[in-house]
Amino acid sequence: MSPARRQTVTAWVGHVPVGSQHPVVVQSMTNTDTADAEGTAIQIAQLVRAGSELVRVTVNTREAAAAIPDIVARLSEVGINVPIVGDFHYNGHILLREFPETARLLAKYRINPGNVGAGQHHDANFATMIEVAKEFDKPVRIGVNWGSLDQQVLARLMDQNAAAGSPKTATDVMIDAMVVSALESAAYAEELGLAHDKILISVKVSSAPELWQVYRQLAALCDYPLHLGLTEAGMGMKGIVASSVALAPLLTEGIGDTIRVSLTPEPGASRKLEVEVAQQILQSLGIRQFLPQVTSCPGCGRTTSIFFQELAQKIQDYIRDTMPDWKARYPGVEDMQVAVMGCIVNGPGESKHANIGISLPGTGEDPRAPVYQDGKLLTTLRGPRIAEDFQELMEKYVEQRYGQQTAEV
Ligand code: SF4
Repeated sequence: MSPARRQTVTAWVGHVPVGSQHPVVVQSMTNTDTADAEGTAIQIAQLVRAGSELVRVTVNTREAAAAIPDIVARLSEVGINVPIVGDFHYNGHILLREFPETARLLAKYRINPGNVGAGQHHDANFATMIEVAKEFDKPVRIGVNWGSLDQQVLARLMDQNAAAGSPKTATDVMIDAMVVSALESAAYAEELGLAHDKILISVKVSSAPELWQVYRQLAALCDYPLHLGLTEAGMGMKGIVASSVALAPLLTEGIGDTIRVSLTPEPGASRKLEVEVAQQILQSLGIRQFLPQVTSCPGCGRTTSIFFQELAQKIQDYIRDTMPDWKARYPGVEDMQVAVMGCIVNGPGESKHANIGISLPGTGEDPRAPVYQDGKLLTTLRGPRIAEDFQELMEKYVEQRYGQQTAEV
C-alpha cells in the first residue's frame, strides 16, 4: 500500500499536476548546452521516452534563452509536449524580460533565492521574475541549495543563534537558514501577487540525514508542493544508493510531490539513468508502478552458469524497451510481476507468485525450465532457445491478460 501523502495545494506545471494526491512526478534535467537547440531537443526526447514527466533545462545565457522556442518546436514536431522548466541563476530577471516568447513557452521558472543578486538588487531581481511569472501565469519553484544559500539569511540566523542562550550547531543553523530562505521567498512572492498554488519549493543538500531534517522541517511549516532530491548525489552506484537512501524515508512519510535523482553521468553513459532510478525508487516503495517488476534471485553456487544472469538481463531490457509500446496497447501492464529464478530451491515458489515466471535448472538439475503462469504450471522449456521461448510466452501473456482489459473498457 502506498504511503499517505502530506496535504498540499496542487500546482499545475503545464498540463502536469504536482502536489496533493496526484502521483509523485518524475523529473530530470538536461546536460546539453541549451543554446544547442537540436542537441537539447534530442536529449529531452530521450528523457521523455525514458519516462521523465517534466524536464528542466538551464537558461543561463541570451543564446540559451533564445533557443527555447526552437527546442519546443522541434519537440512538437515529434509529438512531444513535455513541460519544460527553465533553471535561472543570476540573470533570470534579465532573460525573462528580454525573451518574452521563452517566458511564455516555459512551463515553470526555477528561482534560486541565493543567486538572484545581492543587497538591494536581491529583492528587485526576484520581484521582476515574479512579475513575469504572474504575467504569463506560470508557477515558480523556489529552489534553495545549500551550495548557494542566501548569505544574508544565513548571517542573520547565525547572529540570532549566537545571541541565544543555548546555541544550535552550525549544521542546524544552516538547515534553519535554508528553510527560512525558502519560506520567506515564497511569502515575498505571494506579497507580490503570485498565487499560493503557483509556488513549489525545494531545499537541497547533499547528505541524506540533513535532507531528512530539512524536508521534515519544511513539510511541517507549509503546504506548498515539494520538489525532492539529493543534490550532487554523485556518480554511478554511489549516487544511486545515496539518492535512494535519502529519498525513501521522506517519500514513505508522504513528503515529496516531484522527485529528481541528480546523478553525475559516467562518461558516455545515457542521461536517462536518472529517470530510471527515480522510477525504480517510487516503484520499490510501492508509490507508483512504471513497468513490470522483474524478480530475480541473486544466484549462488547452485547455478554456476551465466545463462541465468543473461536471461534476467535480457528479460529486464526487453521489458524496458517494449514498455512504451505495451503501455499504449495494454493498460495495467505496468503492474505485471515477472520472476526469473536460478534453481529449484526458490524458483517454482517465486515463479508461482508472479504473473509469469521461469525457474531455470541449477547445476546438476534436470535441464528443463518450468514456466508458471498465474500460479499454475504452464509448460516446461528445454533446449537452446529457452530465453526466446520465454519471451514469446511473456508476450502472449501480456496480450491475453492486458489486451482483454482494453477490449472490456
Ligand atoms: S533460487 Fe537457487 S540459484 Fe537462486 S539464490 Fe536461491 S538457491 Fe541460489
